[in-house]
Amino acid sequence: MPKPDPELLPIRPRCPKCQMRMISTDVVLDADGIEDRTFECIKCGHIETRRLAADPPVSPPAGPGPTAH
Ligand SMILES: [Zn+2]
Repeated sequence: MPKPDPELLPIRPRCPKCQMRMISTDVVLDADGIEDRTFECIKCGHIETRRLAADPPVSPPAGPGPTAH
């Protein structure tokens, strides 16, 4: 399974210290589908790690009526 490119992340949090847009330096996929994302501020060097769900559980599409058996 290829490792996701951290630069393709849609969200980049701002640094809590200087409000600079942080860059993602690493993404680690957990076995439970949880991503450990590491962000780093290029201005002050603040590092922050966030745990995010990589993919929401896929639910079956809700049909317009009762399922025929
Ligand atoms: Zn900063």
